[in-house]
Amino acid sequence: MKEVILIKNGELALKGLNRRTFEDMLVKNMRRRLESAGKFNFTIAQSTIVAEPMDEFADFDEAVSRIEKIFGIAGFSRAAAVEKDMETILRSAEEYLAPQLLGIRSFKVEAKRSDKKFPLTSPEICRETGGYLLRKFPHLVVDVHNPDLIVTVEVRDNYAYIHGTQLKGAGGMPTGSAGRAAILISGGIDSPVAAYMMAKRGLELIAIHFASPPYTSERAEQKVHSLLKQVSKYSGRITLYVVPFTETQEQIKDNCPEDIFTVIMRRMMMRVSQIIAQREHAGALITGESVGQVASQTMPAIACTDAVCEMPVFRPLIGMDKDEVVAISRKIDTFDISILPYEDCCTVFTPKHPKTRPTLDYVEKCEQALEVDRLVKEAVEGTRFIHINAY
Ligand code: ATP
Ligand code: MG
Repeated sequence: MKEVILIKNGELALKGLNRRTFEDMLVKNMRRRLESAGKFNFTIAQSTIVAEPMDEFADFDEAVSRIEKIFGIAGFSRAAAVEKDMETILRSAEEYLAPQLLGIRSFKVEAKRSDKKFPLTSPEICRETGGYLLRKFPHLVVDVHNPDLIVTVEVRDNYAYIHGTQLKGAGGMPTGSAGRAAILISGGIDSPVAAYMMAKRGLELIAIHFASPPYTSERAEQKVHSLLKQVSKYSGRITLYVVPFTETQEQIKDNCPEDIFTVIMRRMMMRVSQIIAQREHAGALITGESVGQVASQTMPAIACTDAVCEMPVFRPLIGMDKDEVVAISRKIDTFDISILPYEDCCTVFTPKHPKTRPTLDYVEKCEQALEVDRLVKEAVEGTRFIHINAY
């Protein structure tokens, strides 16, 4: 019996004329994501995408676990694809769903018939299948209101598909459908979550990381690689830009008042990030900031940071509590990587008594002690990049 994956796209269905473009984008993303799991063929019909393994070497379980993380998918099911003949449908339902039916008490059957030439109507398919399964599995009862399992029979163009309850997809919009943005990634808990959240809205990601060797170690950068690798299971491949930041931080430390280090450092990060983002055709920056979490994330501090930004800065965590962020980081499996101990460039230079209400006048005045343009230029020029992909 041939097994396939039936994919239902989510918000896509709402997009009217753009729908076809979005579906094509989703299929392109799936094709790319499943490439190293074997040969799969994709077909689109009536807002369902069918992913079909093309030979026995295709790793079906792996494909299912990858599809679970692809944005733009509302739900999906593993299904048996069988000949469109009622006898075959009944016997296949018995065989294919036996492992599930044996573990439950109640079920109901739903039928969808897009092939109107099929001799039975949907209610007739339901009745026949329900009756047959009741005879074969006498411990079962039918419960149309609150069944343990919904058995679905979909009669489509090429096959009849039989499956149990649909699984929840990753939701959101297909990666790339909203354009491209740059996530400023540290080794912390917040920025990988911010990356995941914006990728969910259809943004393709590039990532920018500021490293300050020898204050920060090779292992700190490796940690960022691991975090992005995990995020890329959801977002697709990511190019990471690593910016040398040591000189900038040393200059800030030597020339600016300590209470304003962090805000100036963040403004320098934004200046450099914008240039890299523009060069790589990204239309926005993303950070993991949340109001009030630390001194650099008060409203006045964010205002001072934003004053140097000419492109939108997305802060998806802005109104979230830490425990809400942690819950997402556990869900996407970045938490255990984030809590590894290696130093981030921010922590190394954290002042003891940061100003929580910096004014722009004061910040700009302090910044005059820096060679801003030269530092930004050299940081951009010293940037290297690495391609990161989970598969
Ligand atoms: P995170 O857990 O993401 O590190 P945080 O709560 O520790 O966040 P900060 O250290 O103040 O907060 O950083 C705020 C945001 O600035 C981060 O979410 C990230 O987007 C960006 N950022 C911080 N450090 C770096 C870095 N070394 N490279 C790139 N971006 C950074
Ligand atoms: Mg941090």
